[in-house]
Amino acid sequence: MAKKPFGFSTRCVHGHGHQSDGRWRTARPVSVPIVQTSTFAFDSADHGAAIFAGENDGFLYTRLGNPTQEALEQRIAALEGAEAGLAVASGMAAATTAALTLCASGDHVVSGDTLYGGTHQLFSHTLPRMGIEVTEVNATDPAHFEAAITDRTRLVYVETPANPTLVLTDIPAVAEIAHARGIPLLVDNTFCTPVLQRPLEMGADIVLHSGTKYIGGHGDAIAGLLAGGEDFITRARFETLRDVGGCISPFNAWLLIRGLKTLPVRVRQHCANAMAVAEWLVDHPQVRKVNYPGLETHPQHDLANRQQDGYGGLITFEVAGGRDAGKIVMDSVELCTLAVSLGDVDTLIEHPATMTHSTYTEEELLKVGIDPAMIRLSVGLEDPEDIMEDLDRAMAHI
Ligand code: PLP
Repeated sequence: MAKKPFGFSTRCVHGHGHQSDGRWRTARPVSVPIVQTSTFAFDSADHGAAIFAGENDGFLYTRLGNPTQEALEQRIAALEGAEAGLAVASGMAAATTAALTLCASGDHVVSGDTLYGGTHQLFSHTLPRMGIEVTEVNATDPAHFEAAITDRTRLVYVETPANPTLVLTDIPAVAEIAHARGIPLLVDNTFCTPVLQRPLEMGADIVLHSGTKYIGGHGDAIAGLLAGGEDFITRARFETLRDVGGCISPFNAWLLIRGLKTLPVRVRQHCANAMAVAEWLVDHPQVRKVNYPGLETHPQHDLANRQQDGYGGLITFEVAGGRDAGKIVMDSVELCTLAVSLGDVDTLIEHPATMTHSTYTEEELLKVGIDPAMIRLSVGLEDPEDIMEDLDRAMAHI
């Protein structure tokens, strides 16, 4: 029977179906394409069933995998020296996915005590609600990790340098302690990126990134990444991500792929600009304290030299006059933007105690060294002289 021509609405949906269009299939775009699709067509019912059964590695549904996501995952794995990578919706989705892959009710995590405020909230409220206890320890001495490990510990988790105190954890020393008890070490490498620090080469097992920060780099995408062994990544994808659902959109995966292309150049310039601003702040008469791992006064400057290939773009500082004076500075800047997040090309300034780390109680803030007067500066890629001039003008209002 002759096929009747499709109606107008059918032609709107299918047009010249791209799946059967030979030109589309053989095109070789130089830029990784954004495969903006939720689902993938199967060749046959058997083909679809085989993919679902894990007997064929084709794509089935973007929550579980997509060519654009996969390109990003392979790149982060290659840069961190990992067997495999996993891209997810945010840094917090990465932390949740890692914790739920490795821990169940009754299990225990040991982590450093300065963490991004969202991670601290996950560890102090959400995981305990699921029966997973977390002990946060002062990360400056690896012995604190050893003392906190119990028979139920399934994960050791550190952020180095930590947000916002810039406290460093000795990765090889903590990896040795964790491995002696058969426990994996996860390092949140958001502040350094693999340009400055490669935790897996120093003994860590899993690396986590808020891809929202330096890897994306332009302040336009929320994303998270994990890199580690094939077994862990497969379980994270097919046991946890499948059920918890925090997948990354193909477009955001593409934005991170683009960010990675310039990552080394940007990170080196962030480091150079931050060093210039930190040294200038040290000499400023209205500044009473500057914290930057590149300064010899940083208590772990030697450790930074041992395990990092540069000091990053984050500085914290306090002005004379404390918290109230700090608020005047944050309200008076014009070039720097008063906003949370970090690692953008734009310089961002914020107040950890009332913003990114407001999940810590006042007692906890003081215990972990987040002074109420602390200002966090993520030094961007503007001319450093302009950043200094803006801060100088803002400090004149105190
Ligand atoms: N890890 C660190 C060190 C962070 O600074 C952040 C966010 O600021 C996160 C994880 C969470 O990342 P996201 O905001 O992408 O969920």
